[in-house]
Amino acid sequence: MIKKEVLRVAARFFEKMLNADRSDHMGHTVTCIFCGQEARYVSRNLKTFTTVLGNITIGRAYYYCPSCACGFCPKDYTLGFDDLSLSPGVTRMVSLVASAGSFWEGSKLLSALAAVIISEKSVERTAKKIGEAIASDEVVYVKEKQSPRDTMYAGVDGTGIPMRKDELTGRAGKQPNGAAKTREVKQCVVWTADSRDAKGHPVRDQGSVSYSAGIESSAWSNSYREEDTPAFARRVARELTRTGFFQAKRQVFLGDGALWIWNLVAMVAPQAIEIVDLYHAKEHLSKLGNDIFGPGTDLAK
Ligand SMILES: [Zn+2]
Repeated sequence: MIKKEVLRVAARFFEKMLNADRSDHMGHTVTCIFCGQEARYVSRNLKTFTTVLGNITIGRAYYYCPSCACGFCPKDYTLGFDDLSLSPGVTRMVSLVASAGSFWEGSKLLSALAAVIISEKSVERTAKKIGEAIASDEVVYVKEKQSPRDTMYAGVDGTGIPMRKDELTGRAGKQPNGAAKTREVKQCVVWTADSRDAKGHPVRDQGSVSYSAGIESSAWSNSYREEDTPAFARRVARELTRTGFFQAKRQVFLGDGALWIWNLVAMVAPQAIEIVDLYHAKEHLSKLGNDIFGPGTDLAK
């Protein structure tokens, strides 16, 4: 109760401070942030934002640009308030809870832990927006890590994830009626394993593991030209570059033995040492034994 009251007082103080600052009115005309033409001052508009302190209502100078028919409030950009009416602090909180569970759980967590009231739908919209921004940043910013390691490991795999019906219309699947219930998400993992356990066996170094995943194709359909490289192969190449994998003296690729994985490795990292992971290697050997000597026979075992 006391915490809520403290937050309420802080929110009013913050609101008062932001409203006292009218420097966002920069005359009758400003340069349009979208097209660079002249935008005209219209009025002072009120809008309610959700911040970590609670809701606050701020007056902002509103400008309209007739050239591109867009309106904007410079103050929103200065403060980093997004078009979903959330402050940067709340946006960060939403991205954390949304990555940890369902949007409904995220909404409940924010309310219980931070007294920030955001609907399930707003958590969803914010998460989607942040996700899209992260996905496009991931493609654009590929800075190669400059710390060559002796050995680096990478692995790729695919697994079916359940999808909503509208995401699956027209897709063939493994259901008896030929319909799909899942789509395949492919994942690329990169790590180092210089650490040793008590018995001296190599173990993954803590904090070294990086992941990148997407519902993307890995098949070269038309040609092996650069522009025909499938999306997932591009993703793997970016992740290998970003983690410094290509600079390691020994580059190791692990897979479950599926053909598409070795095809991908041959194109993206042909210099890598290919290893079938132990679990799948045993499985393949067992199947081979059963095929040659008969299921369950002593020789097969
Ligand atoms: Zn404009």
